[in-house]
Amino acid sequence: MKYDLIVIGGGPAGMMSAVTAGVEGMHTILIEKNNKLGKKLRITGNGRGNVTNYGDMEDFQRNIINNGKFLYSSLYAFDNLRLMELLESQDVKLKIEQGNRVFPVSDRAGDIVDALYKLLRQNKVEVKLNTGIKKILIQDSHVQGIVTYDDNVIKGNKVVIASGGMSWQQTGSTGDGYKLAKDAGHKIIEPRPALIPLEIKEAWVKELQGLSLSNINIQAVVENRVIAKQSGEILFTHFGISGPAVLSISSFLSKTSRGPVNLQIDIKPELSAGKLDKNLQEILNINNGKNLKNSLYDLIPRRMVQIILQLTGVDGNKKVDRVSSQERERLVHIIKNIPLMVKKMRPLNEAIITGGGVNIKEITPSTMESKIVKGLYFAGEVIDVDALTGGYNLQIAFSTGYLSGISAASK
Ligand SMILES: Cc1cc2nc3c(=O)[nH]c(=O)nc-3n(C[C@H](O)[C@H](O)[C@H](O)COP(=O)(O)OP(=O)(O)OC[C@H]3O[C@@H](n4cnc5c(N)ncnc54)[C@H](O)[C@@H]3O)c2cc1C
Repeated sequence: MKYDLIVIGGGPAGMMSAVTAGVEGMHTILIEKNNKLGKKLRITGNGRGNVTNYGDMEDFQRNIINNGKFLYSSLYAFDNLRLMELLESQDVKLKIEQGNRVFPVSDRAGDIVDALYKLLRQNKVEVKLNTGIKKILIQDSHVQGIVTYDDNVIKGNKVVIASGGMSWQQTGSTGDGYKLAKDAGHKIIEPRPALIPLEIKEAWVKELQGLSLSNINIQAVVENRVIAKQSGEILFTHFGISGPAVLSISSFLSKTSRGPVNLQIDIKPELSAGKLDKNLQEILNINNGKNLKNSLYDLIPRRMVQIILQLTGVDGNKKVDRVSSQERERLVHIIKNIPLMVKKMRPLNEAIITGGGVNIKEITPSTMESKIVKGLYFAGEVIDVDALTGGYNLQIAFSTGYLSGISAASK
């Protein structure tokens, strides 16, 4: 038996690639090493599946921080609107939330997997589960087929590698695609964590474990230069910090290794320093006769008060009417610039995305075909592309999946 197309990996990229080829009438097989499809897709967006972003191409380009230009063709070939249309045609109703993030109305990422599974069946794609691929057969720079972990050969002249990155390995993304691509002659840009929580040097951070602040600004400073800024949510953990704003900042840090990284957090970004000082003065006036520490609860989260006071060196037990304007200035400064020092990133396996991967210079952006081996295509996170949080990464997987499938079908 010989297939028109063999797709390796049953994540969003592989499923989309196989569906697209199936629609085009290609005799397609989708091979997944897990016992079910889309294991990672099912846990995206905390199980709610932030499937894409409703932003325009410019917005996508701003949020893809690695090799966005390479993705122009695929994002145009199958954009967010087409993905949304496809899902809605399969009865997955969608809603748009803050930051243009798109989710199923059901808040179930599993609904997206079910819809894709239905499309695979409708388009007669053969799905082979519990089957890992260890080798791609190549002769005279042309694909001939693949070899499974248990040495079975499956023949076909076109293969899509859609095996994902190498983080959250419990979902099946164990980096096999890098080896398959390398053996085929491709260069792999060293995999590195992207969208990863950060370990923090300051011991006081642990005291805030579990505290989440939803509207903060965070900036990373290296050698007195601001290298990245983000706004959004931060979550304090037992090791340091996480949450969307932190994950996004981390992607900038992981691109190159640099000197010590200092973070500054502004927990009142909506107020200028002057306005914050005014608010502080009003709060102190209202609380006349009370201790400073008991008055600050109206301004900052209760669990942070003692820490902010420690960082400013202002005595929290003094009466509010004894607080000097310099002390107020220090409080305002710290509330808008809480300093943290990055110890290190969490391990690669905890990264939401693996940065690095198959070198884009060796892939034709308008087809996703390898420039080295004819009939070999790439889709999804295995490629050296990555974006910030907001649904962009799944859209990349769907768009490159689509383009690989349609290109394989049109040759
Ligand atoms: C916790 C978490 C939350 C996330 N939330 C979001 C979100 O809300 N929005 C968003 O845009 N992105 C999110 N992401 C990122 C998103 O999940 C990935 O970008 C996306 O899944 C990549 O798709 P993919 O198809 O390239 O790879 P994967 O989803 O990793 O799929 C690859 C598949 O290939 C299979 N495979 C691997 N090797 C082999 C082999 N040798 N043989 C056969 N099969 C193999 C794997 O088992 C796996 O099923 C999240 C990631 C994580 C970890």
